[in-house]
Amino acid sequence: MIAMQGDTLTREDEDVALDTTPPEMFHYVRKGDMVRSAAEGSHVVALCGEVFPVTKVPKKSSNVCPDCERLFKTMKP
Ligand SMILES: [Zn+2]
Repeated sequence: MIAMQGDTLTREDEDVALDTTPPEMFHYVRKGDMVRSAAEGSHVVALCGEVFPVTKVPKKSSNVCPDCERLFKTMKP
């Protein structure tokens, strides 16, 4: 049986999550940083070095930052 929690946006087995900065471009950020940013309004640093506050959650149709995508793939052998 699975308990539904409304504030769960990321899966436990992932170390990073997607977030966005305007325009609709999503960056990979550390999940812990994303949670803290959402809670405190602080900025996060994406894999590519982009710094921005967490404001949105990613959608399947969203564009992913090509720099982040490349760096993310290099993290996983
Ligand atoms: Zn990026």
